[in-house]
Amino acid sequence: MAEQKRDYYEVLGVEKSADEATIKKAYRQLAKKYHPDMNPGDAEAEKKFKEASEAYAVLSDPDKRRQYDQFGHAAFEQGSGGAYSGFDFGSMDFTDIFGDIFGDLFGGGGRSRRSGGGPMKGANVRTSVRITFEEAVFGCEKELELNLKDPCPTCGGSGAKPGTSKIQCTKCGGKGQVVFTQQSFFGMVRNVQTCPDCQGTGQMIKEKCPQCSGTGYIGSRKKIQVSIPAGIDSGQSIRIREKGEPGTAGGPRGDLLVEVIVQRHPIFQRQDVHIYSTVPVSFAVAALGGEIMIDTVDGKVAYTVKAGTQTDTRIRLKGKGVPSLHGGQRGDHYVTLVLQVPEKLPAEAKDLLRRFDELTGNSLKAVEEYTENKAGGDKGDKKKKKKGFFGN
Ligand SMILES: [Zn+2]
Ligand SMILES: [Zn+2]
Repeated sequence: MAEQKRDYYEVLGVEKSADEATIKKAYRQLAKKYHPDMNPGDAEAEKKFKEASEAYAVLSDPDKRRQYDQFGHAAFEQGSGGAYSGFDFGSMDFTDIFGDIFGDLFGGGGRSRRSGGGPMKGANVRTSVRITFEEAVFGCEKELELNLKDPCPTCGGSGAKPGTSKIQCTKCGGKGQVVFTQQSFFGMVRNVQTCPDCQGTGQMIKEKCPQCSGTGYIGSRKKIQVSIPAGIDSGQSIRIREKGEPGTAGGPRGDLLVEVIVQRHPIFQRQDVHIYSTVPVSFAVAALGGEIMIDTVDGKVAYTVKAGTQTDTRIRLKGKGVPSLHGGQRGDHYVTLVLQVPEKLPAEAKDLLRRFDELTGNSLKAVEEYTENKAGGDKGDKKKKKKGFFGN
């Protein structure tokens, strides 16, 4: 009998009230940790991976989640011959989330689940775009130029030379599908796959179209506008629907996935929605207090340093950080004030510093005084001799 199943929320480690993004994030972490490719031969990891995948499959689907909330595991147990614990994975599309996590690893599997012959969505196309730090903070519009496939105008996408007819595919006998069994994460699965020779059409080309060499597609440079939302971070992707490869048999185009790469900034560093930087502060300003100018992504901001500020003091410029991608307030900008010690000073400034030192603890003469007190006596002479040493 099936063993006692754990609560899906417990499996993902999220609250019952968790929103979609939280659930996705939790699953993504678990899937990365337990993915069989990363834990070869580890049966326990594989089990955990399946368990998390099943929980995610249910909780990420609003309808299934509602049913689960109402009926528990019983909601999915009746009358199913699915490959794993009575849950029908065949109808699920993992490609979206796995695409995010594992690249194209599941791309083929995802598509082959949709039975051959009928309309199929085209493959996703991946590309990347580099933007500046500020563009990531405030969002931007970018124009990408890339090669996109379109159905060949000469043969209308059939790949056959105009005026010639197609012949029946020898691999699948014209059925457009081939059947095979496969060991998957979810057990042995009998899989019907689109015939690789005829791509599910059941037909083969006798004479190839001269324009597209029988592929049915021609590539052309296309310009595509991408709206990059404010707050995007390096490594995140934007999905542009139906700008991937053309579908087959009337299926929709795949999607274009644009990975955003944010250039490093010479001053600012970013973590989530917060920005970090360091700003030099002179001793005089730190000691007496005063205004300094601080660079932020919004331009320069005046800030009043309190008298007696120590080095490495961190201040917060509220709302000067990065907007959250999910809306809401901007993060903050944290500035570390670093005291600057002058390396070169004009003679007058040196004299004033010595005078300053005399008035504030005489640190320049601390050793001298200590030695004198120990020896006891004849102060006047010694002081005069030493003066030459410090006086340069
Ligand atoms: Zn053609
Ligand atoms: Zn075939």
